[in-house]
Amino acid sequence: MTAPLWTGEALAAATGGRPIGAMPAAVSGVSIDTRTLQPGEAFFAIKGDAFDGHAFLRQAAAAGASMLVVAEKKLPALGAIGLPIVVVDDVLKSLERLGSAARDRSTARIVAVTGSVGKTTTKDALRHVLGDQGTVHASAASFNNHWGVPLTLARLPADARFAVFEIGMNHPDEIRPLVKLVRPHVAVITLIAAAHLGFFKSLEHIAEAKAEIFEGVVPGGTAVLNADDPMTAYLIQAAQGAGVTRITTFGEEETADYRLAGFRPSASGSRIVARIDGTQVEVQLGSGGRHLVQNALAVLGAADLLGADVEQAAKSLSSWRAGKGRGERHVLPLLGGSGEWTLIDESYNANPASMRAALALLAQGAPGPSGRRIAVLGDMLELGEFSSDLHAELAGPILDAHPDLVLLCGPEMKGLDGALERLVRHEWFATPDELRESLVRHLRQGDVVMAKASKSIGFSKIVDDLIRIH
Ligand code: ATP
Ligand code: MG
Repeated sequence: MTAPLWTGEALAAATGGRPIGAMPAAVSGVSIDTRTLQPGEAFFAIKGDAFDGHAFLRQAAAAGASMLVVAEKKLPALGAIGLPIVVVDDVLKSLERLGSAARDRSTARIVAVTGSVGKTTTKDALRHVLGDQGTVHASAASFNNHWGVPLTLARLPADARFAVFEIGMNHPDEIRPLVKLVRPHVAVITLIAAAHLGFFKSLEHIAEAKAEIFEGVVPGGTAVLNADDPMTAYLIQAAQGAGVTRITTFGEEETADYRLAGFRPSASGSRIVARIDGTQVEVQLGSGGRHLVQNALAVLGAADLLGADVEQAAKSLSSWRAGKGRGERHVLPLLGGSGEWTLIDESYNANPASMRAALALLAQGAPGPSGRRIAVLGDMLELGEFSSDLHAELAGPILDAHPDLVLLCGPEMKGLDGALERLVRHEWFATPDELRESLVRHLRQGDVVMAKASKSIGFSKIVDDLIRIH
């Protein structure tokens, strides 16, 4: 029998809280959400912006929680729940303490991934390749913030060989405390780009906030940086300033340690040659886009530095595919007719860098003989005062993708109407549903459609609807 993640006693001790009732012998996991809680897990009643976990203790019990961690000040109002309880001063802090305890007992080789784009993609690809070489623990979804990182750490099994953490931020000073909990051996920065610019004055300020990741790297650890990113010169200095002296780079640049030496795109992926330490390693990628090539090089670098076999990692990449909303491809039958069309689902999120990457992906997607390239683009949010300019600057990348039709949605995309006038056929819609209805009318055999917008625009719903109805 494998050891449980925690014993109730060890969990209570790590949180520094006061146990009430008999602590369970085995706690199988850690949860902060009763909708996904699995039987046997400990439920931490975190207070978020919209909800307070203390309102869901009965749901936690009904879902099979083995114990609850609650705040001292909420205790009088709780009533009888019938589960062992640990009472703490602050539930989020107690989760951080449990995360620290998990880190202290772990012998895993640990990588933390940050960057403006490609964190989840790189993290998931790393999980995939490392999983072929040993047990690996990784952040779920984009659990990269002040609760996601401690939660992922608290879930780290004592015997994992590798661990992969995504760390994100919208503001300065967010990454520092998180990376100090994680204490990675390897820190990857995918790319510095304009995301959340509404909260920052400039790219330099974004780079400065991302560079906080170096402050938690263990002594002797390594920074893995993008050689093609103009901000990397700054990041190298910042890494050195934080005491990280081992710096490795990836990219197309001559000097890169994990260098792209060959690239041949295909309709649904690419074949690349990476040059590592004077040897050539071939990699087949089953998902398309030049940006995934960058992420793949970062994966090879991080895997190598974690002690994994880099040639095997390169082989494992061939069975990895881009995830839902991040370049996943669906070949769908045409409604009421014969033939197929391809939907590239980029609906998870959008900022100027990822929008350009996705448009390049559309350019690479080869439509069938009578098919066309269709760009379905919604607003990019959180760009503050730069928003209209950054939307206007998309005209070039849109035209470079050689679309036959551009369907736009949202007030910011409306600004492109003029810039695209007479250059490409395009239509603007106020709502995603109107856009979807029009797209369905337009669809023909062999079409390749790429859909991308910021998360809250709701394109993931139209993608789900398109998949469901076809
Ligand atoms: P979030 O901050 O929302 O968690 P993330 O950094 O985890 O985002 P991903 O979810 O991996 O990013 O990717 C989001 C989108 O960014 C993808 O759909 C793709 O369009 C684009 N993308 C991924 N990797 C890169 C890259 N290296 N360069 C440019 N764009 C990229
Ligand atoms: Mg993410």
